[in-house]
Amino acid sequence: MSKARTAAASNTASGSSKDPFRFNSPEDQWGVVLMCPDCRNPVPNIVEDFASGDYLCGDCGLVLGDRIIDTRSEWRTFANDEGDDPSRVGNAANPLLDGDQLDTVISRGDGGSGVSRDLNRTQGRTTAQRHERNLVQAYKEISALCDACAMPRTIVDIAKQLYKKVEDDNLQRNKNNDAIIAACIFLACRQDNAPRTFKEICALTKVDKKDVGRTFKFLKSRLKEESGTTSSNDLIDRFCSNLSLDQETKRITKIFADIANDMENVSGKSPVSIASACIYMASHLTGNPREAKDISRIAGVGEATIKTTYKILYQHRERLLVPDVLRKGSPAKEANLVSP
Ligand SMILES: [Zn+2]
Repeated sequence: MSKARTAAASNTASGSSKDPFRFNSPEDQWGVVLMCPDCRNPVPNIVEDFASGDYLCGDCGLVLGDRIIDTRSEWRTFANDEGDDPSRVGNAANPLLDGDQLDTVISRGDGGSGVSRDLNRTQGRTTAQRHERNLVQAYKEISALCDACAMPRTIVDIAKQLYKKVEDDNLQRNKNNDAIIAACIFLACRQDNAPRTFKEICALTKVDKKDVGRTFKFLKSRLKEESGTTSSNDLIDRFCSNLSLDQETKRITKIFADIANDMENVSGKSPVSIASACIYMASHLTGNPREAKDISRIAGVGEATIKTTYKILYQHRERLLVPDVLRKGSPAKEANLVSP
């Protein structure tokens, strides 16, 4: 080892010195290179052997240095691996969880003795942890439900924020947690201007419609937030495209819905019923009729409800058939309308 320590730096650039293993002068130290004293190869082939912590000459194997620090990380991370990343930095704080998540968590694995698993469980019983776990569980559920019907990321995030608010304000007491999640998704859809009907949310979450409705009303009043309204117009876009209706029919349906919303006998009806009846009327008017049965399937409204609402619209058809509906170039003809 003493020989290795004699390995010295030399300034090859200056050439004035006969001994390449000695510093020529302190000023020349900037140009130093490490060189093997045996091979004296001007292009030294020095190998870092991290396993033994040595600098070696790659040509003759002479040990040139016996203390090197390995600056590389001692793990490899693969994108697919979850929960097994030994990086000590961790994720960024999640604003949807409480605190900054800088607390210590006892690991579960310790080579099979089972002690750390018990410690982990004991630690998990503390209330702070349980609260967080409930939140994480609810977030998972919200994500899974929204993914099931391909809702956009924004809705998922809004729903999670609403759920967090419910938890923070302690509004969830004596309430069915599934109903709260359903109501949060319903509210989130509205806030993102992509409303779903109660029926759709119920079909998705398997929560009773009454339960969702009641929880939604409660949350809406308590969260005191601009939650938007489900207007017929928002629904028409979706229903029309699901029924493969053309733009002209969609345009006329929206005109009908606007007028119908202000009509007595109609304004009290649900936006879904109004939208469905208007689609029924407009599709017949433009000679591209859709049956009440098909609209009922898409919109989730009873056939009878569509027909009853249509009956009222038909009685007041002179109010609906404004010049903008029967304008030139439109296929809309009053004769196409069927009597209810
Ligand atoms: Zn050598």
